[in-house]
Amino acid sequence: MRITNIEGRLNLLTDDGFADVAGLSRGRFGPGVQDVYRVWEDFRDWARSYEGGDADGATRPDAAIGSPAPRPRQVFAIGLNYRDHAREANLPVPEQPPVFTKFPTSLTGPFGKLVLPSEHVDWEIELVAVVGRLAKRVPAEDGWAHIAGLSIGQDYSERRVQLAGPAPQFSLGKSFPGFGPIGPWLVTPDEFADPDDLELECAIDGESVQKGRTSSMIFGVPELVARLSAVTPLLPGDVIFTGTPAGVGGARRPRRFLKPGESVRSAIEGLGWMSQTCVAAE
Ligand code: ZN
Repeated sequence: MRITNIEGRLNLLTDDGFADVAGLSRGRFGPGVQDVYRVWEDFRDWARSYEGGDADGATRPDAAIGSPAPRPRQVFAIGLNYRDHAREANLPVPEQPPVFTKFPTSLTGPFGKLVLPSEHVDWEIELVAVVGRLAKRVPAEDGWAHIAGLSIGQDYSERRVQLAGPAPQFSLGKSFPGFGPIGPWLVTPDEFADPDDLELECAIDGESVQKGRTSSMIFGVPELVARLSAVTPLLPGDVIFTGTPAGVGGARRPRRFLKPGESVRSAIEGLGWMSQTCVAAE
């Protein structure tokens, strides 16, 4: 099952196009998107029984598509979760996942402008997992059962702010407005032959800069659910940015950061793609 956010309204994405959930369900679910995670299992059962026929077949402008989890109560993000990225950062492979947050005002939809607050903004394509069931001290083998679905994210990072001061400021440096695009769809784990092994690729103006597979994560999605929920309950609709593979600009020599006019395209197998066009701050 695939859902999306069209101008703030929950939609099913069917083979025939978009279908507005509030209308289809006669108000039982929707019209808002974030609240559906509070009743995720009821919604999933209802959506599975949907037989189609109500989609209008029309396309939608990219600007109409919002994040499939637009207002999470908690946002978790994981650092150094791919060995090749830890290596390029000259840091040891972590024994515990480094965790930070992206403040909610940084979250946005999958298409649009990325305003560059400085000349030190970096890209990080990431698989995003959205929580579909309250998770408290969940063992890893039950991790996937607590995930509603997967989407594409970018963990845009202002490296100067992130690394300034006596201790790194991961949460701040990664939370400028627009630094957390998510989308274009949320896809349930059962749609994938293997949800633990998806190819992801980030390209700038058509040049591939990151390419990897989520099977290379040090802590996979179920393990992250276990590690995070051992400390903090994961709430329905919460978002987890799961870390980025090698190829970020700050690890290149010379360093490379995003410039006005450049376009960043992020794609993950089975999840589609999203893009942002960089513009200078006014
Ligand atoms: Zn990241």
